[in-house]
Amino acid sequence: MHEFSIASSIVESVLEFAAKNKIEKILEVRLLVGELMAVEWEQLRFCYGAITRETAMENSSLEIEQVEAAVSCPYCSYRGRPKYWEDALAAFPIVTLQCPQCGMAAESTQGKECAIKTIRYMA
Ligand SMILES: [Zn+2]
Repeated sequence: MHEFSIASSIVESVLEFAAKNKIEKILEVRLLVGELMAVEWEQLRFCYGAITRETAMENSSLEIEQVEAAVSCPYCSYRGRPKYWEDALAAFPIVTLQCPQCGMAAESTQGKECAIKTIRYMA
């Protein structure tokens, strides 16, 4: 499960940070998650809650900030927001890596990040 592995790598690095700095209680972790990572936030929160139980991170809040996707096209040099494929069956618009200007395959320049932005803890 995608969300589970993301949650465990986050928790692992925060706990490592806590151990190194002798922090007993983590209060909040703020994440930057790219739109292209297709992370289900509820799933991620659920996994986070489960993994942090009985650790220094227990009951800490997980804040997620989304990084919008951006593409750059090697064919027509378009740069900007990607094209969205609005599928009636999908719950939310799906990002495609097709250039909105010329329709060729574009490259993502932003939206694949998954990083810890800030950690709040009790000193
Ligand atoms: Zn293009």
